[in-house]
Amino acid sequence: AVLAASGLGQLGEVWGEISQAAGATERIAELLAETPEVAPPATPLALPLPPTGAVRFADVGFAYPTRPDIPALAGISFSVRPGERVAIVGPSGGGKSTLFQLLLRYYDPSQGHIEIDGVDIAAADPREVRARLALVPQDVAIFAASIRDNIRLGRPEATDAEVEEAGRLARADEFIERLPERWDTPVGERGVTLSGGQRQRIAIARAILRQAPILLLDEATSALDAESETLVQQALDRSMQGRTTLVIAHRLATVLSADRILVMEQGRIVEEGRHAELVAKGGLYARLAALQFGEGAPTARVAEASPI
Ligand code: ADP
Ligand code: MG
Repeated sequence: AVLAASGLGQLGEVWGEISQAAGATERIAELLAETPEVAPPATPLALPLPPTGAVRFADVGFAYPTRPDIPALAGISFSVRPGERVAIVGPSGGGKSTLFQLLLRYYDPSQGHIEIDGVDIAAADPREVRARLALVPQDVAIFAASIRDNIRLGRPEATDAEVEEAGRLARADEFIERLPERWDTPVGERGVTLSGGQRQRIAIARAILRQAPILLLDEATSALDAESETLVQQALDRSMQGRTTLVIAHRLATVLSADRILVMEQGRIVEEGRHAELVAKGGLYARLAALQFGEGAPTARVAEASPI
């Protein structure tokens, strides 16, 4: 029941509740990864093996159950090839996070359908769908547990060696090796407090550990210090390698490196293309980019209150 309210924005809170109620990291991860909010079909279709990471939205429309008259998404169609990197930008409330909610099957579309590797995800087991996705949320939840167990949430059955390898790939070893008990250091409520950049690297390590073919990234909007900025960027670059990536983008570096940018406004895709094309077009993207990225300083970052 607690997961029924789990919008992406509220995941942090929900994780907190679960962590108090359950206590064990394995149980938490199980709940997070596997509790289907939508009913699984009686005879689910299997997703094809091996996974390739193709994603397709086919004329998807959706309204949240609490606001049935207001479409959060309308007529959304796009395909993402395996390994492609797609950035999603647009004003707040445009429907970016809702795309992720539907992919993760917290809700089903009211119109159209969504495919992963060619299968309608509404016909598949939600647990199987979620096993193909790794989410790096904007607000990273850290639990009162060791660093090691916090990373292990990405895949509870992972060995210590696998956890540490994921931590190294995510550039988290840089601070972990300096903690008093290194990988066994308690963090969260009763332990060491982690900075924003450190929390993000924990989330990226979890995502890498999941070994999922599709990475969903909701980029942080709050500023990181310069060192964290570089390390987080390196971690993200590594986590995206060989994976299909959908990223809700707030940074210039991200849109510049995207294969394609989708611009969303009021639940629709209003523009699509690469950064230079969209800037040349002089439409919504060009205006948002000028606001958000200024004159193109590579480290420019959206302020908390800006419209993207
Ligand atoms: P973005 O991520 O682009 O800021 P969202 O996908 O979060 O936009 O929101 C799209 C629309 O859906 C907005 O009008 C927002 O208010 C609404 N919305 C988002 N989450 C919920 C929810 N859990 N319940 C009801 N409405 C929601
Ligand atoms: Mg959002």
